[in-house]
Amino acid sequence: MPVPDLGVPKRTIEIIQKYHFDFQKKFGQNFLIDTHVLEKIIHAAEITPEDMVLEIGPGIGTMTQYLSCAAREVIAVEIDRNLIPVLQETLAGYDNVTIVNEDILKYDIGKLVAERNQGRPIKVVANLPYYITTPIIMGLFESHVPLDSVTVMVQKEVADRMKAGPGSKDYGALSLAVQYYAQPYLAANVPPNCFIPRPSVGSAVIRLKRFATPPVSVQDEGLMFRLIRASFQQRRKTLVNSLSHAQDLPFSKEEILQGLRQVGLSESIRGEALPLTQFAALADALAIQKKMD
Ligand code: SAM
Repeated sequence: MPVPDLGVPKRTIEIIQKYHFDFQKKFGQNFLIDTHVLEKIIHAAEITPEDMVLEIGPGIGTMTQYLSCAAREVIAVEIDRNLIPVLQETLAGYDNVTIVNEDILKYDIGKLVAERNQGRPIKVVANLPYYITTPIIMGLFESHVPLDSVTVMVQKEVADRMKAGPGSKDYGALSLAVQYYAQPYLAANVPPNCFIPRPSVGSAVIRLKRFATPPVSVQDEGLMFRLIRASFQQRRKTLVNSLSHAQDLPFSKEEILQGLRQVGLSESIRGEALPLTQFAALADALAIQKKMD
């Protein structure tokens, strides 16, 4: 296996000039140019020689080289067809890498896992395109493909929201959705000068370790997530007001008040004060009420 040679500004600039590559803002292209950060990501992802890794958006192949050295096999899915000839050059000799020219949101990960990893959980590692961070992460969890962990570079502010708990200003629907599926761990903060071109915001590497089973049990997962979304749409409103005015919830004010009483919550409580366990309990109480109607 060759030794990784990307990850330093000089080499990245050489490649970009050789291919007359134009950065596409619409694809969120900010390439990593810091070997320490690359090593931190590989370390945080806990990759072993048995692992199949899915890399989302390999760019010019910088992190792919590192992943290739650590894993059994790497599948690198890149949307920008202009990067495919670049990847063919930078990953020549990295024989365990498969380059796929596709949109990750349309790519059948379930089929990949079944056919190439005997259905065993894969690890996802990526310096994500920031314009679709949430759809990618939630898509991975909600599709229920066998996943061990997702280790990703995201905007610092998004990483803070993913790991926030009740009472914090960062706590919201994304925190609860992520924490229903995975245990978040902030592995590193990464400043803008580690990328070319520099993003306008700070970044962070977060590892989301998938739970074998969710930390709470709830009868109707869909209802719980509708309650969560409605609770944070106008976060200064009380829970009763938010939920009774939500378009996609069928509950009257009285039913919600009864649900709150049943799970021992105050009538004036706001959604931002509730942990996942209480959202689950409230969803169960409301579901039972509807069944008895
Ligand atoms: N991994 C490289 C690195 O760290 O230097 C590049 C990271 S860059 C932030 C994001 C990459 O994702 C770009 O190469 C971009 O073209 C690619 N990308 C954007 N949208 C995508 C999508 N929907 N599916 C697959 N790749 C995508």
